[in-house]
Amino acid sequence: MSESHQVLFRKYRPQFFQDVIYQDLAVNSLTNAFKTKKIGHAYIFIGPRGVGKTTIARILAKRLNCENPNGVEPCNVCLSCQEITKGISNDVFEIDAASNSGVDNVRDLRENVKFNAMGGKYRVYILDEVHMLSGAAFNALLKTLEEPPPHVVFILATTEYHKIPETILSRCQDFTFRKVPVAVLQQYIETIAKKENLKYDSEGLFWIAKKGDGSVRDTLSFMEQAVVFTDGNLTGIKLRKMIGYHGIEGFKEFLNALLDSSQSANLFQKLEHYFEEGLDLNKFLWDFIEFLNSLLLIRDNLAERESINIPQEDLQNLKTEYRAVDPEVIILLSERLFLVHEKMNQMKLRSSYEVKVYLEIQFRKLLMEREKPSVSGLLTKLSEITKLIQTDFNQMEPSHTKQESIPKETIKPKPDMEKFIMETFAATDADPDQFKNL
Ligand SMILES: [Zn+2]
Repeated sequence: MSESHQVLFRKYRPQFFQDVIYQDLAVNSLTNAFKTKKIGHAYIFIGPRGVGKTTIARILAKRLNCENPNGVEPCNVCLSCQEITKGISNDVFEIDAASNSGVDNVRDLRENVKFNAMGGKYRVYILDEVHMLSGAAFNALLKTLEEPPPHVVFILATTEYHKIPETILSRCQDFTFRKVPVAVLQQYIETIAKKENLKYDSEGLFWIAKKGDGSVRDTLSFMEQAVVFTDGNLTGIKLRKMIGYHGIEGFKEFLNALLDSSQSANLFQKLEHYFEEGLDLNKFLWDFIEFLNSLLLIRDNLAERESINIPQEDLQNLKTEYRAVDPEVIILLSERLFLVHEKMNQMKLRSSYEVKVYLEIQFRKLLMEREKPSVSGLLTKLSEITKLIQTDFNQMEPSHTKQESIPKETIKPKPDMEKFIMETFAATDADPDQFKNL
C-alpha cells in the first residue's frame, strides 16, 4: 500500500475508544479495566490486518498516560496525548517485530524497560507482528513478561496466533479482533463520504466496502483511490468500471444461454465481446461461479451473508427471476465450472486468446451434456423404479399376512420363505438367520 493512499485512514483514525468500530470485545474489556482499575501488564491483540489492533493499542497507551482523562477515554489534548498522536512520545514505543526479530533486539528492550516513564506514568511497548520474533527472542521476552516492572505495559499484536508460543500466550490477556462486515464498513464510509462532501450512492459504497475485505485500513485506502478514479463521484456505475465488475446482466445472459438451448449462440457472442473488450476472462469465470453460488444463497434466504457479491438492489429481482430454476441444475453447473476454473489455472495458459479458446471448448461441452439426461432426471427415474419394485413386492404378499401394527422385529419369516432361505444357504457358510429381519 503506498503512502499517498493513507490520507483518509490517518485522518479518520479513531482517537477515542468509543470511535472504534466493531471491536466491542476488546473495547469493552479495556474500558472496564479502567473502570475497575485493573490494568494488565501484557495484552495480546489477535486478528487480521487493518481492523484496529494498533489503533486501540495507541488509545490504550494514551489513556494510561493521559494527564486529564475523561472517564475511560484519554483527553487527546494534553502534552502526553499529543505526543503519542504524533508518534514522538518518549514513553510509548512502537516496535515492528518483523524487522527487530532477533534476540539482541529483545535484550535491548529488556534493558530499556528498567527505566521509569519520563513524562507519563507508564512505559508502553507495542510490538507489532510479534509472531515474527525468533525463538530466542521469544524466550528473552518471556523473562520480562514473567516479572514485568510495575510501570510497564506490553501490547503484542499479531495476525498469526498459532505462531505465538504457549508460554507467551499464558502471560498475556488475549483479545480477538474480527474482520468488519461489509454492511458495517459501508455505514462507516458513508459517514466519511458525508464529512468529505463526496457524491456517492449505496451501490458505490457497497463496492468500496466489499473491496476492503473486512479491513478498515484497506477499505479507506481503496476509497482514497476511488475518489481519485471517479473524481469524487462514488457511484455504482463508476465503481463497477473501476473494479472490472460487469454487473449481473452479463451473468444472467450467460446463465440463460446455458439453461435454454435456443439462446446458446448468445454465450459465444458474449465471450467474444468480452475478449475484444480486454476483459480478464479468468476473473469473469470466477465471478460467474460466485454469481451461481449467490443464486443458491438467495434461494435459501441467506443473501445477507458476507460472501454475497451482489449489491442489495439486485438481490430481490434475482430471487424472483430464478425462482423456477431447479437448484440441482445450478449446483451441477457451478461444480463443473469450478473444475474448469481450477484446471484453467493449473494449465497456466499463456494468453487471453488461449483462455478464450479453452472456455469456448468447455462451454460447448457443457451445452452438449445439457442435451443428455441430467443427473436430476436420472435420480427421479431411479426413485420411480424403486417405487415400482416395492409395489410389485407388496402385491406378491398374500393380503392376510399383512400385520402392519406389529413391530418389524417380531414378524417371523413365513414358513415357505424360511425353507427357501435354508435351502439357498445350506451349502454356504452364511448364517441364514441374519437375513430374517431384512
Ligand atoms: Zn490526555
